Amino acid sequence: MKKIQMVDLRSQYLNIKDEIDKAIHEVIDSCAFINGPAVTAFQKDLEKYLGIKYVIPCANGTDALQVSMMALGLQPGDEVITTSFTFIATAEVIALLHLTPVLVDVDPDTFNIDPEAVERAITSRTRAIVPVHLFGQCAPMEEIMKIALKHKLFVIEDNCQAIGADYIFSDGSRKKAGTIGQIGCTSFFPSKNLGCYGDGGAIFTNDDELAKQLRVVVNHGMAMRYYHDYVGVNSRLDSIQAAILKIKLQYLDRYAAKRRAAADHYDKAFKGNPKLKIPARYSRSNHVFHQYTLVTNDIDRAALIAFLNSKEIPAMIYYPVPLHLQKAYLDPRYKPGDFPVTEHLSDSVVSLPMHTELDEEQLQHITRTVLEFVNA
Ligand SMILES: *Cc1c(COP(=O)(O)O)cnc(C)c1O
Repeated sequence: MKKIQMVDLRSQYLNIKDEIDKAIHEVIDSCAFINGPAVTAFQKDLEKYLGIKYVIPCANGTDALQVSMMALGLQPGDEVITTSFTFIATAEVIALLHLTPVLVDVDPDTFNIDPEAVERAITSRTRAIVPVHLFGQCAPMEEIMKIALKHKLFVIEDNCQAIGADYIFSDGSRKKAGTIGQIGCTSFFPSKNLGCYGDGGAIFTNDDELAKQLRVVVNHGMAMRYYHDYVGVNSRLDSIQAAILKIKLQYLDRYAAKRRAAADHYDKAFKGNPKLKIPARYSRSNHVFHQYTLVTNDIDRAALIAFLNSKEIPAMIYYPVPLHLQKAYLDPRYKPGDFPVTEHLSDSVVSLPMHTELDEEQLQHITRTVLEFVNA
């Protein structure tokens, strides 16, 4: 059996090696390493795929979030509402810009931000909401957009984990994750659903003015060369990464289908087991399974992971510590017990290997081993 990994980037690469190698060599031959034609070509393809007017490439997903908040003109002290159950980057950029992160709890089934909790957290200082489409499934965007409209707030979608997912509105219409709020942000970190071979990120918007401002901020606050009207940053996607992404974008939907097939296999094995709760499939989003995350019940999670590891199966906890209990983010406004759903999830979730190259034999080995422990 092929060695099981959380993400098998090598097998994925080998399947498209010729195309990727050719694209990389074309960029090297051209020596247009920064802002070259490969970046524009990828940007156009992604705009078309997402059905969005503007894609602004940048250096990584964290920058995408930071640049978005800068381009919206958020000011120190402005409150930004986000989820307590996410990767740290979401709250990190809020703190770095001296904005005030306001955390809210999540839905126990979808792990995504709870819109009622969002509404309760709004104050006169609230300026923006940052929903995260966690693990590959959209947050409840229709409800969030309604709240944002009512209170005149910006919505920045953290779409680092759900690129390619569709959000399905109550009238049946669909939009791609990340294209619903004023701004969407994504990451092309290698293990993300659309990953490059280094760091990369992008920002999406349909707003003409905002697109202009985002381009200025990522480029040293400069609209005309060497005239700096704003304090900006240097955040670029390099041409080699763009050339790789242009190829991998063509596979994104096929990759999502493979992830879904792996998830279906897991679901079938674990469904109905009283000790394992399979990830809920939210009716308003298709799931692109950035992660396959179980909620364990009444078992020793650390022992389960150790048992899996002893059988050459990796497993991870995303995320073991809620944002409000992270040392760097301790805040007198928050204490243990404030976000009971998030705290319960941090104590009980486990993510299994999830990628585009899992084969039947590997999946069977994983499910049998999990059940061997759980049913012992
Ligand atoms: C990966 C990730 C980020 C950060 O992306 P980088 O490219 O690593 O900076 C932000 N938010 C979420 C939810 C992520 O999963």
